Amino acid sequence: MAKIAFIGLGNMGGPMAANLVKAGHQVAGFDLVPALREQAAAQGVAVASSLVSAVQGCEAVVTMLPAGGHVVSVWREFLPKADKGALLIDCSTIDVASSHQVHQMAHDAGFRSVDAPVSGGTGGATNATLTFMCGGDPEALAAATPILQSMGKKIVACGKAGAGQAAKICNNMILGATMVATAEAFVLGEKLGLSHQALFDVASTSSGQSWSMTSYCPVPGPVPASPANHDYKPGFATALMLKDLKLSQQAALSVGASTPMGALAMQIYSLFMAEGHAGEDFSAVIAMLRGKAGA
Ligand code: NAD
Repeated sequence: MAKIAFIGLGNMGGPMAANLVKAGHQVAGFDLVPALREQAAAQGVAVASSLVSAVQGCEAVVTMLPAGGHVVSVWREFLPKADKGALLIDCSTIDVASSHQVHQMAHDAGFRSVDAPVSGGTGGATNATLTFMCGGDPEALAAATPILQSMGKKIVACGKAGAGQAAKICNNMILGATMVATAEAFVLGEKLGLSHQALFDVASTSSGQSWSMTSYCPVPGPVPASPANHDYKPGFATALMLKDLKLSQQAALSVGASTPMGALAMQIYSLFMAEGHAGEDFSAVIAMLRGKAGA
């Protein structure tokens, strides 16, 4: 079992660090927020008083931070103090350019690194059922695998440095676009007098099928576990969906890819968020498409 530093003990990082402890690792944790440090301590994380003291003496450092800027500044701060040979794993969802930058910083300082953003949300973080999408050298990924296995169920090697982030934003661009398309179809069906169940029974087994339909259906009824049955409590918050769609469009612009559906989904979620729905599940966008979202 390894001695691991975990930086960023928020909604995702808190339970992920707790799962490393449950798996028998020795975990040193740090977050800027005192209340989160206390919560992590209650889960068996050895809370450190600073970033640098958390990483010292560790064989691996995991970061789970809000955005690229945070990851770059945290890695820049701890890299000179980390133990030589430590393996660096960033599980945050960040822009591909920042991911390349931190891989390069790690490489220049003589460290192995992996980008390993996740899918599965807070439920997956709590139940250790996350999927990790990984980018980095095969040797670094092999070293990261036992650590990731303590926090998740599926580990996908996506390619070289930054490929995990690329896979994550491409996946979530599909998700945002298919959710809008699925919600639109239910709204059209309503106006045509079609029941939700009838449309679901057809589309869930026909060519309109997608995860947005079968696992995350945006209307209550057909899929009992979907947020639609729980007042659109996330789930996956609209603010996070918009963040990922923005990352996809930023990446598309940087490589000259044409992604009009992703761009439109981003605009629709920007509007929905501006109307005050940042904290609702992203499937709640159906209310705006009906013209009934309110602020
Ligand atoms: P969060 O805001 O709850 O947690 C991030 C934590 O990082 C915060 O507690 C914050 O205090 C801490 N932090 C920021 N700067 C720091 C610093 N310099 N040093 C130490 N700690 C610092 O966010 P989250 O929901 O846990 O998400 C984390 C990452 O995972 C994000 O990149 C997000 O996009 C991604 N993600 C989230 C979900 C989800 O459902 N919440 C799902 C998949 C991926």
